[in-house]
Amino acid sequence: MQFIDSHAHLNAEQFSGNWENVVTEAKNAGLVSIINIGSDPQDSERGVVQANQEPIVYTTVGVHPESLAGRLPDMAVLINNLRRLISNSQKVVGIGEIGLDYTLDPVKAPKQIQFSLITAQITLALELSLPIVLHVRDQKDSNHCFDDLLVILHQFTTSEKGVQNSNISLTTQKLAPRLTGVFHCWTGTPAQVQIALNLGFYISFSGILTYKSAGHILDAAKVVPDHRLLIETDAPFLTPEPARSQQHPSTNQPRYVILTAEKLAQVRDTTLGHIAEITTANTKLLFNLP
Ligand SMILES: [Zn+2]
Repeated sequence: MQFIDSHAHLNAEQFSGNWENVVTEAKNAGLVSIINIGSDPQDSERGVVQANQEPIVYTTVGVHPESLAGRLPDMAVLINNLRRLISNSQKVVGIGEIGLDYTLDPVKAPKQIQFSLITAQITLALELSLPIVLHVRDQKDSNHCFDDLLVILHQFTTSEKGVQNSNISLTTQKLAPRLTGVFHCWTGTPAQVQIALNLGFYISFSGILTYKSAGHILDAAKVVPDHRLLIETDAPFLTPEPARSQQHPSTNQPRYVILTAEKLAQVRDTTLGHIAEITTANTKLLFNLP
């Protein structure tokens, strides 16, 4: 069986001394690729170096709102830096992770600044025909973040002009039907799955699916069709069970993506082999891997 971890942070500090061993362990477990994910200028840069060095590692580059410090960065510098990273490597396969996060300190990451940050990066993704890796994180029992993200995505995916939202004013001129990508670390409801699918996006499940608190995420995992399903670890975070309970402290690793695949097989009443086959094919297709 072959697996791909569609979202890991090998470029994170936690792996600074051992990322090559972590990749070897992943290969030994059956992983054929790992998508390394950028979230700020520094780790995007590190991710490209790692991908250039290790054949099974691919990478994305992008800036997540978590790195905001109360003001909009110089977007020309930021976008030029991403362009430079992309043009220096054949291994950059997407833009991300980008998105909206309403659990962040609103002083450091005001909504309007988050909107500007994601919009510029989606524009770049479209120009370069790269898929986007989306992070969306709402406050507990709220869906404002998801809804605001939809308004932004609709600007790029539909031909309707004048999508109205009092909080968001965007000046997107070009309409682009080819925007695609993945909602990473899915925690939404089955109804939200349907909305994301209608936009043409893939849905990726993480180790959260194996937690006792998974709740409606289990229902969401049942309704994603085979051809839109991805798996990920988000390593070093979100170690799946039972590994999470067995090791202290628990650092997640790409090889544990198989634990999430096992849970998906159980929830969807299919075999692990089938989950491996479809998620590997889908990840290759989305990120245009060889
Ligand atoms: Zn991540």
